[in-house]
Amino acid sequence: MLRGVGLRVTRPRVAVLIATHDQPHADTGSVLGSVRAGLPDVSQQTVYDALHALTTAGLLRRIQPSGSVARYETRVGDNHHHVVCRSCGVIADVDCAVGEAACLSASDDHGFSIDEAEVTYWGLCPECSTTANSS
Ligand SMILES: [Zn+2]
Ligand SMILES: [Zn+2]
Repeated sequence: MLRGVGLRVTRPRVAVLIATHDQPHADTGSVLGSVRAGLPDVSQQTVYDALHALTTAGLLRRIQPSGSVARYETRVGDNHHHVVCRSCGVIADVDCAVGEAACLSASDDHGFSIDEAEVTYWGLCPECSTTANSS
């Protein structure tokens, strides 16, 4: 997978990919934590660099809901959307509402060639809405 996009295969890069695959929408801190579980000596900078290189190469997607830190996931290229809990910040994947990346067909594209539509749904996750109702 790394070689396919012309990236050198390094243990930190592989570990970062595994970490983001196992834990979608992980922030940098949790990626660092899981990478260090396997590679205790890895530096924070190395993990940052790996996240950056993998994102640039298109193997990772970086999302950053407003008010949240950047998060990374390996589910790339399908233009899926995210639902974010306003209370606890938990994030879940939402498939495109109108089917096949239809959100890319803007009502007026202003002549742009569009390749991504960023849609974020905001609300309360089941856990948080239960707490809100019972208190
Ligand atoms: Zn919540
Ligand atoms: Zn996602």
